[in-house]
Amino acid sequence: MKYADLHVHTVYSDGTSTPAEVVCCAKEKNLSCIAICDHDCIDGIAPSIAHSEEVQVEIIPGVELTIIKDTKEIHLLGYFVEWKEKWFTEILERVQRERVTRLDRMIEKLKSFDIEIDRERVMRISGGKGSVGRLHLARALVEVKAVSSIRVAFDRYIGDFRPCYVEDIGFSPKEAIDLILRAKGVPVLAHPGVIEDDSLVKEFIKYGIRGIESFHPEHSQADREKYEKISKEYGLLVTGGSDCHGLGKGRILMGSVKVPYDFVERLKEEAGRIKAARTSN
Ligand code: AMP
Ligand code: FE
Ligand code: FE
Ligand code: ZN
Repeated sequence: MKYADLHVHTVYSDGTSTPAEVVCCAKEKNLSCIAICDHDCIDGIAPSIAHSEEVQVEIIPGVELTIIKDTKEIHLLGYFVEWKEKWFTEILERVQRERVTRLDRMIEKLKSFDIEIDRERVMRISGGKGSVGRLHLARALVEVKAVSSIRVAFDRYIGDFRPCYVEDIGFSPKEAIDLILRAKGVPVLAHPGVIEDDSLVKEFIKYGIRGIESFHPEHSQADREKYEKISKEYGLLVTGGSDCHGLGKGRILMGSVKVPYDFVERLKEEAGRIKAARTSN
């Protein structure tokens, strides 16, 4: 039986594993296929593909876009996006620049708690490439001993709606879904159980998502069953993955959530339909 992990991060966003390490780990975990889905960044795709050839792990080019809706942060996965398209990479580069500005604003807010963080420290932790984010800032807070753990950094300072949190600019739901479709990718709502607002799921369906990430480490069995049911009801695909951030979230999660390779076949068929429809337009 072949398996795939359809949600993996690299050092090009807030994962701690390089593309070479990610591919190696996939091989060790006996995965046939992984999807590289960095936050607002596609730069980890090419090196992952380059390393995948010798070990024969299939790489799905993906991305995880940040959406802000009514101050909530929601994530949208895009599978099989045309990641080499210049217009697409330019949009992501703009988002990455906005993330640095947002980082500066969070650093500023931390000052009112007498915490001094150098932007350079965070950039060094992030590797200075791709998307910088809160997980890097949390690691910096641990490094300067302002907090005892990443969890405390989020709980006390930079978690959603905590005092030093600054919202990403983010896309609107419609913008993000349209962007993935324009890049001829398959838009899939990431881990809806984390958002805990099912009216949003309906809104995303209305705007054209093609799938729901039902299998995710932060989903309970009840969540999974609920999202599988909704997917079935609306004729959507089901996807799943570990959302592995390397050691960024404590331990390597790759392979802890995986789906049968059939799921990949169905994603490919959908990607084919989207590409055909957009090419004929
Ligand atoms: P950002 O894209 O900068 O908003 O950062 C989002 C990242 O922070 C995602 O990888 C989330 O999983 C992670 N994150 C959000 N809240 C927490 C939390 N309470 N503990 C650990 N990681 C979190
Ligand atoms: Fe992340
Ligand atoms: Fe996510
Ligand atoms: Zn993710």
